[in-house]
Amino acid sequence: MSEFDIIRKYFSKSVVQKSMLGVGDDCALFTVPHGNEVAVSKDLLIEGKHFFSNVDPVSLGHKSLAVNLSDLAAMGAQPIGCLLGIAIPTVDHRWLSKFSKGFFKLSNEVACPLLGGDTVKSSSGISISITVFGAVPVSQAIRRNGAKLNDEIWISGNLGSADIAYRIITKQIMGSKSLLRRTIRALDWPNPRIHLGRCLLGIANSAIDISDGFLQDLSHITRSSNLGANIYYDEIPFDKYLEGKVSQEDIKKAILNGGDVYELCFTASKSNHNAIRKISNDTGIVLHMVGKMVSGKSIKISPHDRSILYDINGFNHF
Ligand code: ADP
Ligand code: MG
Repeated sequence: MSEFDIIRKYFSKSVVQKSMLGVGDDCALFTVPHGNEVAVSKDLLIEGKHFFSNVDPVSLGHKSLAVNLSDLAAMGAQPIGCLLGIAIPTVDHRWLSKFSKGFFKLSNEVACPLLGGDTVKSSSGISISITVFGAVPVSQAIRRNGAKLNDEIWISGNLGSADIAYRIITKQIMGSKSLLRRTIRALDWPNPRIHLGRCLLGIANSAIDISDGFLQDLSHITRSSNLGANIYYDEIPFDKYLEGKVSQEDIKKAILNGGDVYELCFTASKSNHNAIRKISNDTGIVLHMVGKMVSGKSIKISPHDRSILYDINGFNHF
């Protein structure tokens, strides 16, 4: 089977709008709505490093796209389309069919068609690189450097489960089969908060998606906004079913440093507090206010607890 057969069979399923050109030519073509600019993001996922070799390919197809969409969400951008670069050592039809199923399900749900890509043979392992394009009103993208003094700090959804699943799988902690079944959904099926990101345009002063760990990602906001943060530990939303299943210490670590969350952390003026509560009501997405931007450089967690020794210790590749 040639590379072109693979592309035709597995990666040509997107129906694109009349104004766009998708898979099949040398380039894809698209325009952005008047008054918008293009938001672009890319992630590279390597077998054995970012995903386990035995991961369900359906969830991998979903997650590869979801982690990119999460970046668009963090800036308030609406997906336009994406490109998929994939390197595979062999043509495994079962794998390709499942991967493309997970990929296109999410791609269709969020109207982010696959517009092109590259398909190559790798000498070892699978690599997947997706680039997403989104549209955001000119100069309105929510950036990391926009947090203001006294801004409230908010988090969507719950933290904790993805990291617990990861650490059970990698045998860093002991966890029952049923706990793994429950937590692995968070790890394998992240839900990009695109609609929330759109709602936060004009409301949030800064935002980031939590991919490397809450504290580490928050530190990108504090550093680029030249501020510090006070975090109220007890207000941080986490999956309550973890309590009693793993130690408090492991829960804390999962909440503060656990990666692969793909919830949004954003800051907004106190005057927008009620508007944010309304967004939560309207969208059904739980939003928790967990702290405040302060002067200085450090992130302080209260109540002060010596067991919270994590300054910033999230995921770092190097
Ligand atoms: P070129 O040789 O011009 O780089 P290719 O032969 O690599 O083009 O690809 C042919 C067409 O198929 C192009 O439109 C390209 O964008 C698309 N394509 C290749 N691989 C993928 C993929 N994995 N997913 C989606 N489209 C792909
Ligand atoms: Mg070409």
